Amino acid sequence: MSFYNEYSKIKDFSFDNFFQKIQGNDIRRILDKDKLEPWDFLALLSPKAQVYLEQMAQRAHMLSLQNFGKTILLYTPIYISNHCVNKCVYCSFNAANNIARKKLTMQEIEAEAREISKTGLKHVLVLTGESRTQTPVSYIKDAVKVLKGYFEVVSIEIYPLTEEEYKEVINAGVHGLVVYQEVYDEAIYDKLHLSGPKRDYHFRLDAPERACRAKMRSVNIGALLGLNHWRREAFFTGLHADYLQNKYLDVEISISLPRIRPYIGGCTDVYPVGDREFVQIMLALKIFLPHVGIAISTRERQGFRDQLIPLGVTKMSAGVSTEVGGHKGESTGEGQFEISDVRSVAEIRQAIQAKGFQPIFKDWMDI
Ligand code: SF4
Repeated sequence: MSFYNEYSKIKDFSFDNFFQKIQGNDIRRILDKDKLEPWDFLALLSPKAQVYLEQMAQRAHMLSLQNFGKTILLYTPIYISNHCVNKCVYCSFNAANNIARKKLTMQEIEAEAREISKTGLKHVLVLTGESRTQTPVSYIKDAVKVLKGYFEVVSIEIYPLTEEEYKEVINAGVHGLVVYQEVYDEAIYDKLHLSGPKRDYHFRLDAPERACRAKMRSVNIGALLGLNHWRREAFFTGLHADYLQNKYLDVEISISLPRIRPYIGGCTDVYPVGDREFVQIMLALKIFLPHVGIAISTRERQGFRDQLIPLGVTKMSAGVSTEVGGHKGESTGEGQFEISDVRSVAEIRQAIQAKGFQPIFKDWMDI
């Protein structure tokens, strides 16, 4: 059994016909329900629901307070390599791009860790491009062991692993996995991933589930907003999170909402997602899946990120560099994309407090 079975049932669904039938009283009725069904969630993603954003915001705020309190977990990404064998048309690390490539040594990773730890952060997300040759599982495990000397929580965002490999990295100290499907629509996925192992749609789609089976503590999924019609991708993302949450009750499931940002070699085939639409996705997800966390990255600009805080955000990145070695200021590798919110950890901490929320650096305890 795979989420693909669920996806297959709805991949040819006529979203436009469904949306045409949604009326205002459907939205009001859904907002009064205790528990939403998938079709309720889709209705909240409809054009009609845009008129009800204020009511949706109130509901999302209340559900977020009930399930997560007034806390926001802070973390920062640490890029340790930008070598990549894939050709994803939307990414600077695309193997076809002639950019400066760099992979950190363990000493350099430790120097980065020392620099990040000065900010007080306890949670880092290790990122690489996707190259099993340049950054094999053994390298990832060594890097995690170094980072565990400085941080309580180490998550990874690397190429999809087998279940056995997920067990190996968990044993090395990994607590969380971030893996985005990028785009759920299979035909578009095929078009955007020109070559490399990432062309295997199914192996990527099942990666979060393999990690859950391997007993990863937290799993974060998402679609790169801008690669397809956002209503469809948001719907598939929500269904995927719902599937994982219902099947793996002891895994903390979260969703990220990355919006495509400028990058080297930019593609033009983008489906734009405006701020109101972004907010609608976030609110609909929060109302449909109140127990699922929502991470907002520095892809979003600072004022907008601050406004989102009370609406259901549970994790925010801070003090971000998307360059390899970027925290120590000794980067010789190109960044993955341009970030928008360039504030330091201290500044983001203050912004969260100014909204009446508490920034936290660690959200669980080992027993
Ligand atoms: S999105 Fe990931 S796999 Fe694709 S080119 Fe960028 S780093 Fe490589």
